[in-house]
Amino acid sequence: MTFKNQLSKVTLASTLIASSLLGAVQPSFASISDQNEAQSQDTVAAYGNTKNPKNVIFMVGDGMGPSFNTAYRYFKDNPDTKEMESTVFDDYIIGTQRTYSDDPEDNVTDSAAAGTALSTGHKTYNGAIGVDTQKQSLETVLERAKKVGKSTGLVSTAEVTDATPAVYASHVDDRDKKNEIAQQYYDNQNVDVILGGGAKYFGSENNNLNQKFKKAGYDVVTSKDALSQAKGNKVLGLFSDKNMPLQIDAPQDDPSLTEMQDAALKRLSQNDKGFFLMVEGASIDKAAHANDVTGVMSEMDGFASAFDSAMAYAKQHPDTLVVATADHSTGGFSIGKDDKYKWDPKPIQNMKHSGQWMTDQIANGKDVSETINAGYGSALPAKTMKAIEKEAKKLSKINKEDEKYDAQRQKLQDAIQKSINDQSLTGWTSYGHTGVDANTYGYGPGLDAFRGNIENTDNAKNIFDFYNQEGQKQ
Ligand SMILES: [Zn+2]
Repeated sequence: MTFKNQLSKVTLASTLIASSLLGAVQPSFASISDQNEAQSQDTVAAYGNTKNPKNVIFMVGDGMGPSFNTAYRYFKDNPDTKEMESTVFDDYIIGTQRTYSDDPEDNVTDSAAAGTALSTGHKTYNGAIGVDTQKQSLETVLERAKKVGKSTGLVSTAEVTDATPAVYASHVDDRDKKNEIAQQYYDNQNVDVILGGGAKYFGSENNNLNQKFKKAGYDVVTSKDALSQAKGNKVLGLFSDKNMPLQIDAPQDDPSLTEMQDAALKRLSQNDKGFFLMVEGASIDKAAHANDVTGVMSEMDGFASAFDSAMAYAKQHPDTLVVATADHSTGGFSIGKDDKYKWDPKPIQNMKHSGQWMTDQIANGKDVSETINAGYGSALPAKTMKAIEKEAKKLSKINKEDEKYDAQRQKLQDAIQKSINDQSLTGWTSYGHTGVDANTYGYGPGLDAFRGNIENTDNAKNIFDFYNQEGQKQ
């Protein structure tokens, strides 16, 4: 385990940078504890002698287990250098967290139970949205933030009513009650900025909530342009009917996760009392459920870019804490398979579209070889094509409403993705979640409380602590 080494290296590296900036003598390894002390004094100075953050940007890479972070390092590696370069995450690793839920049957969590732990500080059963094991509502950090006068935001590449955003601002006993979740967003109006997918839960099928939000003073937008032109501090942005397309497949007029996050920060930072913002890279999980390595790397890239941008914001605003973690891992994603000591990101880098995109096209009746050519950027061997065509034919005979449809669709997707998983030597063990601890990354005041191997519930407990102490100061 190289955690300690990694941390002291980071500290040493920043001290070296700091001392060379000051023209000081390069420190020796013997004086490392003095340097740590100097470092923490610097930290206090930089944050204006305040221990707690005014602003919190809490980032969730849904499904982003540790192998995803490592694979992303391989994926971003410059092949012309001997060492493997660090990713935007690596320098900010501060610990790991335990993700298990409090469920009568399952001890591997889903996003609802894990999200509720992150948002309320309580473990609960799989499927629970902001409620405990007795289905009683639990206060969330976003609700508390609003109570103490801060602005609030939820940003996700999934439907904004999906589990991870939902656990911060709604309370239902079942994550599938998405109309009710949307209704609660409107009724409670605790969230100033809501950006993501899921327009179908705000339209004519659900009380025309979008119109009601407009009347309540929100800018309601559905495109990147409209988002950038909107002037108000409250905005409901719904950029697709359901989940937003993966970054690699997304149309030009879709905002990226980073663009949505920036739009949120622009508005939330107007409040002198600060803000709480949750940002979710949701489709890391969704791509991993379907064992779609191209989709996974596309979404890791989107989440890394948002993390980088959040870091830049925190460095300009020293009263801002950024914490990034995952709610669980998905798919049993492995770096290498079939006894080979290798994982090759190059074929993934050459992909033009995700496995999900190709599957959607073919499931909607598009020509198989045209679609594979467009997705892979080249043809695949005749034998592979035959296998894909066979599964496509089977799917075409099943009605979408039939309960067998989803399983056959996954068989088609597996046939489409077999080539990229084999070429890259990516292994998968499940279409569900796995129970490994998740990495924690972060920067800013209050970070110490998140260090080490913590419980997922500690995230909310720490943020509640900040708000409690802030209350005492007033
Ligand atoms: Zn999932």
